[in-house]
Amino acid sequence: MPKVISSHSPNRKHRPRAVVGVRLFMDEGAVREMIGHADAGAADRKEVMGLMMGTVYRDDQGEYAVVSGTATAGLDADEVSVRFDRGCLEELFGSMDSSCGDEVVGWYHSHPGFGCYLSDIDVTTHEGIFGKDTGFALVIDPDTETLAAFGCRDGVPEKIQMIMME
Ligand SMILES: [Zn+2]
Repeated sequence: MPKVISSHSPNRKHRPRAVVGVRLFMDEGAVREMIGHADAGAADRKEVMGLMMGTVYRDDQGEYAVVSGTATAGLDADEVSVRFDRGCLEELFGSMDSSCGDEVVGWYHSHPGFGCYLSDIDVTTHEGIFGKDTGFALVIDPDTETLAAFGCRDGVPEKIQMIMME
């Protein structure tokens, strides 16, 4: 069973990051999966969400994450909100197990037509999954074909640079 990263995970693999100063790297295939999911939801005028699976590494600048896959399950969603359906947790865990990535390093969700930001509820969701000051959030607006990555520091979302890798 993959675990959720926390700020107290001591033994990180040491590996220098590909681009200095960047904390989040994403496999292009994983990004394509999330965009495809957001597009499918937008066709039904619904938000979608899922988890970003990957690995956290350490180098001389600190920790950084590489997203290599995604996991999702049945959702309880409408145009402006989304959460995992309570009856679908087993499906979610199965999806996590079969994803390429050993840990939950972040989550993603869509904002069909209303832009990429983290709302107060999103921050609460983020901290509910990861605790304070760790984890990444990706927001996708399928209508405008934009996406943005965020971290949270003391309950305040900060937009961060994200690099896509082939
Ligand atoms: Zn949101």
